[in-house]
Amino acid sequence: MPETRLTFDDLLAQLAAHAQQVDIECTWPTWQVGQLAAAGVLQWSIPAEFGGAPATADVLLAGYVRLARACLTTTFILTQRNGACQRIADSANEPLRAKLLPALACGDLWATVGISHLSTSRQHQGTPAVRVEKRGSGYCFSGEVPWVTGAAHADYIVTGGTLADGRQVLAAIPARQPRVRIHAAMSLLALTASHTAEVELDAVEIDERELLAGPTEQIMQAGSSGGAGSLATSALAIGAAQMTLERLHHEASARLELLEVQASLAEECAQIERDLYQVLSSGATGQTAGEIRARANSLVLRSSQALLAASKGAGFVAGHPAGRAVREALFFLVWSCPQPVLAASLREFAGSAAPQQF
Ligand SMILES: Cc1cc2nc3c(=O)[nH]c(=O)nc-3n(C[C@H](O)[C@H](O)[C@H](O)COP(=O)(O)OP(=O)(O)OC[C@H]3O[C@@H](n4cnc5c(N)ncnc54)[C@H](O)[C@@H]3O)c2cc1C
Repeated sequence: MPETRLTFDDLLAQLAAHAQQVDIECTWPTWQVGQLAAAGVLQWSIPAEFGGAPATADVLLAGYVRLARACLTTTFILTQRNGACQRIADSANEPLRAKLLPALACGDLWATVGISHLSTSRQHQGTPAVRVEKRGSGYCFSGEVPWVTGAAHADYIVTGGTLADGRQVLAAIPARQPRVRIHAAMSLLALTASHTAEVELDAVEIDERELLAGPTEQIMQAGSSGGAGSLATSALAIGAAQMTLERLHHEASARLELLEVQASLAEECAQIERDLYQVLSSGATGQTAGEIRARANSLVLRSSQALLAASKGAGFVAGHPAGRAVREALFFLVWSCPQPVLAASLREFAGSAAPQQF
């Protein structure tokens, strides 16, 4: 087990101190990932028998809230890596778990996930983004994985595809091979340092023994890993809102007229966070998790705009933290948003309903 050299509070302070730099420089946060390892955070999503130190679901959510408050980009990268680890840990493929999980726990291997085309991306297109063919004792993957965070930095990409009969499979595909073509990282409104890229699979062959799950119908419904719009995504939105409200509080200390707005948003944020843990403890269904996400989305957007308005023209100048808060809040409108959450946002924009009316 890797030695834990950094306390969680020290980690948060380190991440917060460099968050603005991550946003400006847009380079992969290698140092921050090293700090996550040093604080033992990379072990949270790995079972103990493989060298992990698994966090309970409530501790994991609370950790994500605090990490996102410190540095959203680093925390987002962590969630994509943890999503991959959880799907490997959930797999019934024991040899593959034993091969990958110990190296993931100590940070010797990095994995990420590219599964949105099986849930929230490209659903309107008639054909699957990634097609899978059975070939001998293996499977052949062809097509485009539209979104893979940190693809160029990963040893494995957990991704899936669809067979001709509609069943789906999930695999941990070794990323460093010629038939896995990683496009240039996208320039984004925010979180560009996450180095999110499209990945082309050019007839990538995987032995049957290397499959994580399937073939089965609706593979994203299987397992405990939390799909699109899971509570973890709301935890990040709450953390981002907290960072924004902390800055608004700072502004309000010299401008009493801002106090009421800040206090009202902070109370709403605290209530959503309490409800997040409540929904977790009562067993989140897609519906209740979606409600929390819709409320967290609304809050993070309104908080960031309140901060910008309070910061006035100065906040509109590139490099001001209010601008980052606004851009980062927009991320939650598009990341891992199932249809009901998207619909709730659109209804709110149309002025026809508050996000509580999910
Ligand atoms: C910064 C970032 C990082 C991400 N990282 C990851 C990751 O690491 N792993 C992962 O799995 N996912 C990731 N995602 C994907 C994310 O979770 C969502 O799946 C994604 O944002 C959905 O957007 P899309 O453009 O792919 O949606 P799509 O639904 O494919 O929409 C694309 C376009 O198609 C058109 N369109 C949409 N719906 C319809 C319709 N019904 N009819 C006609 N036209 C339509 C619209 O013009 C739209 O702009 C990431 C997303 C972002 C923004």
